[in-house]
Order: sequence, then structure tokens, then C-alpha cells
Amino acid sequence: MIVLTRRRFLGTSAQALALAAIWAEAFPLDPARVSAAPLQVAPTFPRSPFTLGVASGDPADGSVVLWTRLALDPLAEGGGLPPEAYRVTWELAEDERFSKVRGRDTVETGPERAHSVHVEVDGLRPERPYWYRFRVGSWESPVGRTRTAPRASADLDRLRLGFVSCQHWEQGYYTAHRHLAQEDLDVVLHLGDYIYEYGPQPNPVRVSVGPECTTLAGYRQRYAQYKSDPDLQAVHAAHPFIVTWDDHEVENDYASDHSNDGEPADSFVRRRAAAYQAYYEHMPLRVERRPRGPDMPLFRGIPYGRLVDLAVLDTRQYRTPQPCGNKPGPLCEGAFAPGATILGESQRRWLFERLDRSPARWHVMAQQVMMAPLDLAAGPPEEFSMDKWTAYQPDVEALFQFLATRKPSNPIVLSGDIHSSWACDLKAKPHEAASPVLGSEFVGTSISSGRDGTDISPRNQVVLAENPHVKFHNGQRGYVRCTVTRDRWHTDYRVVPFVSRPGASVETRASLVVENGRPGVTRA
Ligand code: FE
Ligand code: CA
Repeated sequence: MIVLTRRRFLGTSAQALALAAIWAEAFPLDPARVSAAPLQVAPTFPRSPFTLGVASGDPADGSVVLWTRLALDPLAEGGGLPPEAYRVTWELAEDERFSKVRGRDTVETGPERAHSVHVEVDGLRPERPYWYRFRVGSWESPVGRTRTAPRASADLDRLRLGFVSCQHWEQGYYTAHRHLAQEDLDVVLHLGDYIYEYGPQPNPVRVSVGPECTTLAGYRQRYAQYKSDPDLQAVHAAHPFIVTWDDHEVENDYASDHSNDGEPADSFVRRRAAAYQAYYEHMPLRVERRPRGPDMPLFRGIPYGRLVDLAVLDTRQYRTPQPCGNKPGPLCEGAFAPGATILGESQRRWLFERLDRSPARWHVMAQQVMMAPLDLAAGPPEEFSMDKWTAYQPDVEALFQFLATRKPSNPIVLSGDIHSSWACDLKAKPHEAASPVLGSEFVGTSISSGRDGTDISPRNQVVLAENPHVKFHNGQRGYVRCTVTRDRWHTDYRVVPFVSRPGASVETRASLVVENGRPGVTRA
């Protein structure tokens, strides 16, 4: 079951087998394995173990994933549950009152997966809402609402999606999630920084428990704290999620097996394995996404009829170390060196094949870090943040060349990471008017990271003037709402004025559109 691809750090195959055995012991997520823990047939919990809410995700034609995790005391080791296995019943219905139940079954979960439950329900009708809940002992979970995707061949005429990123617990309330839960949407994309791994930071809006996450127990506790938030629970209960990660699910600015703190690769890969396992345990992902030792196959394609094809990317697990380091500056030679890659070879090949083959009208790349270059320095000097696509020119050039020559229909890039909103044209040479627009990028702001923020800081006035391909910027918190039809992509940047206390209202700060067949962002 355990597939190891990191041979260069594992040495001989005998060592690899030994390490595989250790991983199988420490991180036993074999889906066929029933819990080794004793089964508690008739559990009597003193209070509800559904403290972390419910979620659903990765919709398909007639199928969706349902998720929950049992925890009596979210912040305690093991979620405050004894190391026992439990039987959890799930139920899915066509209506909120569960009068038309379409599926019901019982699954077992145990401490080796932090009492998380992942159910893949098949045989449902495409493109319709369903309601679901779980039961264990005498306790029932809150009800979640989900929605299946249309058939891949369906001539869908509208898709409504939201996208979010970056929800640092200590930097603000999840008010934007509360508003996102109220939106009428088909699906929400989470583009990473679901948790932050840091130990306590100065002057927190809310205190996060525990030191910097490095162990499975540490990451599990961090997810449990984040998942205890009522606004986050509300948004998961309201919409299915399609998730991908960025760096903070493991460690700030890590690249593949390279720690940003200089931790040796073999120990960092163990930390990464713990982080990936905790991520899997807490996300509504299909079992085929589960980690194998230190690796986790997260990039994937999700079609929404013939209208939208989603390529969900992973720009962390396979990238080479930042060629120009981690401090902003001009691009160094390494950024152009063959071999510098943010996608890794097999993901890049997969992406190009998918873009080439998919008949969809809109080709979405849902991913983490900004793709368009963003020059931060006034005047002729150039200064870039080095953790982004710009520092990996071979992949940028290959993708832009692909878009220019193969012309997949309407490329749209969705990004997060920088805790601010940016809408821009994708051009090989942004400063040359004659350089063709190849696609459009919408960078969404954070849910809470960066605290309250401001509309446009003096510093970002400079950045705006410096980057003619940027059509919109805002530096407040919020989420992005998109309505996609055959003729037009419509994006609303929804912002909240503060997150340092609860209760902010939400407003549309700007609306931008991309017309079918005309790459580039314009004001609505
Ligand atoms: Fe972030
Ligand atoms: Ca400049």
C-alpha cells in the first residue's frame, strides 16, 4: 500500500522498506484496514462528539465525499476520546427533513485516523443538492448541505463558485466564512493556508494553542482548534469544498522536501508526512487522495459539465527550492535555469494534457501562489517575491507557450497566498502593449490572515502604478464569488471592513469580467 518515491533520500531499497514499515506503523491510513483499536459497540458519550462540524467535498457526477471527525474535547490529545474504535452511521437525503433518504450506512473509525470519517457516496443524481448527517451512540451531528456536479457531458449553463484562502486563527475572526455560508453557490474552493503551523505570535486577536506544529499530534490539535470555529463550520455545512494546500499546512515557504528552516530532508520529510496525514484526516477528500508515506497525490481534475474544467494544482509538493532564495529582489540566474520547476515534471505534463483534451469552455487552474509577475519596486529596478511562479521561469514560459500555441479555451487562474486581492491579465511581457493577453488571473484575499487590512496602502499604490497588467487591487479580508456562464466569467470581490472583532458586514468592493474568447480582465 505504501508507495515511496523519494528514493534519493532513502538510499537502498532495504532502507526504503524499513522506512516504509515505520511509516505504515506511524501513519496507518490504509483504507482497507479496520481499526486495530478495540471496538466500543455501545459508546455513551457525556456530550456530543460532533464538536468539529461536518463537511463535504470533491463533487462528481452522482457522487460526493462526506466528512466528520469525532472529538469530545477538540484541544485534548486524541480529541479527548479514549483509543477506541466506533461505528458511525451516515445518512444522506434529498431534503432537509430527511424524509427522502437516498443512502445510509455505517463505517468504523478509530484513533489511527483521529476518529475522522470519510464517506464517498455514489449513485446520486447529478447537479442537485443533498443533505447529510452522522450518528454515533445517541448523538447526531449537525446537518450539512452538499451538491453533486453535473455529468461531464452536460451543457451546464451556469456555475457559481466561491474561493478562499489563508485563515490564520490568531489574526482574526472568520466573519468572511459566515457571509460565504449565506451565498447561493455550487461549490467553494479553498486554495491553501487552511491552518498556520506557527507557535504563539505576539498580540493575537485569538490565541492558538500549542507550540509550532511538527508532530502528528500537534497538527491534529491545530486542525481541531480551527475546525471548532462556528463560522468555519457554517461554511462547510453550507457548501461542498474542493481543497488544495499551500505552505502553512506544513511549514512556511517549504519546497518539496526542503525545509525553510534548514531542517535535514530526512527529518523534514517525516514532519511533512505527519502534516499531510493530519490534512487528509480533516479534509473532505476521496480515499484515492490519502497519503502514502511522505507523499500525498493532491493535484486532480474536476469537471463541471462542458462549462468549466477545474485543474486543482499542488505547487508545493514537487517544486524545486526557491531558485532566488526567499527575500524579495530582482530575478537571479537560477530562476531561468532549466530544471527550476514549481509544478514538477509529471504534474506539468498532466496539466498540459488535461488542458489540451478537455472540451470545457472555461479552463480553471485553481492553485496557490500568484502566477502573474508583480514588480514591487518603483521605477526601473525590479523586485519580486521569490516564492511565486515568477521565480520559476521555465514553468512560466512552458505554460505561456502552451497557452499561446495550443490555445485552450479561456484560461482562468485562481490564486491565494498573499492576503490581498489582485485581478490581472496574464502576459509573457506585461510591460509591452503588443504582448498578447494569454489568460486572466484572480488572486483572492485572505479570510483572516493579515488582520483588518486597508483598501490600498501607499506601498501598493506604487505597486499598482508599476504593473500595468493589474486591473484591480484591494488589501482587506474577504472571499471571492464567481458566476460563470457560456458567455462571461463574472468575479465579485467581497470584502469585510474588519476581522479583529466579530460581526462585520460584507460588501462587493469590485466586480470584474472576462468575456468568452477575449482573455483579460475588465471592470464590470
Ligand atoms: Fe497565507
Ligand atoms: Ca520597478
